[in-house]
Amino acid sequence: MFHPDLIRHPDGCPALVLNADYTPLSYYPLSVWPWQTAVKAVFLDRVDIVANYEREVRSASFALKLPSVIALKQFVKPSQFPAFTRFNLFLRDKFTCQYCGKLRDLTFDHVIPRAQGGRTTWENVVTACAPCNLKKGGRTPRQAAMPLHLEPIRPTNWHLHEHGRSFPPNYLHETWHDWLYWDIELEA
Ligand SMILES: [Zn+2]
Repeated sequence: MFHPDLIRHPDGCPALVLNADYTPLSYYPLSVWPWQTAVKAVFLDRVDIVANYEREVRSASFALKLPSVIALKQFVKPSQFPAFTRFNLFLRDKFTCQYCGKLRDLTFDHVIPRAQGGRTTWENVVTACAPCNLKKGGRTPRQAAMPLHLEPIRPTNWHLHEHGRSFPPNYLHETWHDWLYWDIELEA
């Protein structure tokens, strides 16, 4: 049996990027570089290789196993707050309708509707299932008599990380697990 890495296309070999303290540079989105960026950083001596894929890239002058985990040599101060993205908003709300608690058919709802001056911010957008979204229409929760489960807030990275344990990213190479979920491994 071939190791699956050997037949993996290099484009399917992104590198997980750790900070100089060996924690992920960012969780949401997960700090991942394409192999070309990772290899370039290795040659510029900006990163240490922590783990590899079995997959090699070769040129006339060198052969290198593609890095699967790299660590920055210089510490970068991490941002306390995650980016305002669709995924992160769902994650803050644990992929749950904030009106009825359903887990499917999810959409985004402006708590104060845009027509009433509501903005697209962490504090005014929540996860809502399509039926609740439709039922609420252009009304506020009070006008629609549909109270929110939780007041929407801007989450910290820590906050999302806590929720993220239940919703891991789609792609995780085996060498990444130690750097992302070591506490779960230890508990198991
Ligand atoms: Zn709902």
